Amino acid sequence: MVVIVDTITNPLRPRHPEKVNRPDSASPPKPDWIRVRAPNTRGYADTRNIVRANGLHTVCEEAGCPNIGECWDKKHATFMIMGDTCTRACAFCNVKTGLPNALDAAEPQNVAEAVAKLGLAHVVITSVDRDDLADGGAEHFAQTIRAIRAACPSTTIEILTPDFLRKDGALEVVVAARPDVFNHNLETVPSRYLTVRPGARYFHSIRLLQRVKELDPTIFTKSGIMVGLGEERHEVQQVMDDLRSADVDFLTIGQYLQPTRKHHAVMRYVPPDEFSSYEKIAYTKGFLMVSASPLTRSSHHAGEDFARLKAARAATAR
Ligand code: SF4
Repeated sequence: MVVIVDTITNPLRPRHPEKVNRPDSASPPKPDWIRVRAPNTRGYADTRNIVRANGLHTVCEEAGCPNIGECWDKKHATFMIMGDTCTRACAFCNVKTGLPNALDAAEPQNVAEAVAKLGLAHVVITSVDRDDLADGGAEHFAQTIRAIRAACPSTTIEILTPDFLRKDGALEVVVAARPDVFNHNLETVPSRYLTVRPGARYFHSIRLLQRVKELDPTIFTKSGIMVGLGEERHEVQQVMDDLRSADVDFLTIGQYLQPTRKHHAVMRYVPPDEFSSYEKIAYTKGFLMVSASPLTRSSHHAGEDFARLKAARAATAR
């Protein structure tokens, strides 16, 4: 497993020390269909002020998400708990790597207060990977879910978790807190794992999603991959089959974008009609919900998608 142990305290330390000496990898120029709105609206500024006032981190900023202008204008932010420093070093990810600080015991309450101030009907909570903690941060996730439930009883809660690899019992703690949606992203096809997501194991992630459904069938399960990382079309279809075997309800597929030239190159910009084709195929394989487009991200339009997900389950139960 790739775990970065970084004891450098110099504030000028690189964001990704493990990538500094890698050669640059060039990506092709962005096509016309990758267009985003500039983050300069009043709603965007309000969201940023609430995030800052509560001392929180968001994956929207840390991952350099292209949708931040649109989402924050609507006060949709995805909170990233357990700090801003990740113990893994995935080749696609812009989150800072190194040895994280101790957990902030006040964070669950601060997140709940921010959710209340933003007036969110649906919130997405994600985290950095915390391989340094005995439970991988499972109890902190559970505390955050409980704090939001107490402060905002009508808000539905979606979590996007790490894989809790080699953390026995961690998943059970999170599931017992009963999020409405449990998301864990596969990120890519199995043949690309060693290059793209070397600290993870594909079949462990599949099994984690399957186990959520076994523990609590009422929880919606969700997973996503990025395309443009060198995968083949038939491999994407195999991922769909594997996820359906694990009874996963909701699939997201989006275009990988390279955060810096030290990250994995974009091998290809997948055109919009190929995303539409993936979406159609995924529906035929039995997913309740599919979102596939160049700018699809796990948490993009998550509130609207949750309403559609519930409606789709109700329709199949009739
Ligand atoms: S898509 Fe998700 S991560 Fe990106 S800005 Fe929107 S809420 Fe944040």
